[in-house]
Amino acid sequence: MLLIVLSMVFFGLAIKGVLGRQWGGNRFDAYFFILITLSTLCAWFPIRHALFEERLAEASERFLSTDRISVNCLSKFGGIFYLRVAGFVYRGSDIINLKSSTCEQLQAYLDSPALVDNYTLYSLHVLTHEAMHVAGEFNESLADCKAFQRNHKMAEQLGVPSLTAAINSRDLHRFRSSRHPYYSAECEPGRRMDEGLPDAVWVPSS
Ligand SMILES: [Zn+2]
Repeated sequence: MLLIVLSMVFFGLAIKGVLGRQWGGNRFDAYFFILITLSTLCAWFPIRHALFEERLAEASERFLSTDRISVNCLSKFGGIFYLRVAGFVYRGSDIINLKSSTCEQLQAYLDSPALVDNYTLYSLHVLTHEAMHVAGEFNESLADCKAFQRNHKMAEQLGVPSLTAAINSRDLHRFRSSRHPYYSAECEPGRRMDEGLPDAVWVPSS
């Protein structure tokens, strides 16, 4: 927000310099271009942030075949109230809230999905898990297991090539931690939580 205001201030000063007379006439010179550059730089980060949220939201909408989802990447300050969770959805809400570190990891993952490490890749699972809440599943173990069976689908909607998405999805389940609070031993291929999805890509976790 501060950057948007700064951007507008710099832009306003640049225009004022061109139109106004009080600073020695028309300032369509280096002064003008420095102000425009500062204005653009200040606007760049909020715009990139908003575009990334939009990309995540549109992928989530295609993933759930709906058109009402928004994704909110929390600021570092906003995230301190939710230190223990990587993301959350209020019951009945269509807004996926992600911690700033989760969004940074998602950005890093999407920059090079074939070379991602498991820690960074986990952000994909967080997004899929939160999408299952938007779809109405608020039992954490069930939402988590549904996500493990669908991570490749979310990855594809984010623009990841199918083969890479399948490998990512397989790795996410393979390296799942049994110490995670949402862990269930029933969330394995052929076990009780297996939905038998025809295109599920998962292998037993280790
Ligand atoms: Zn959850």
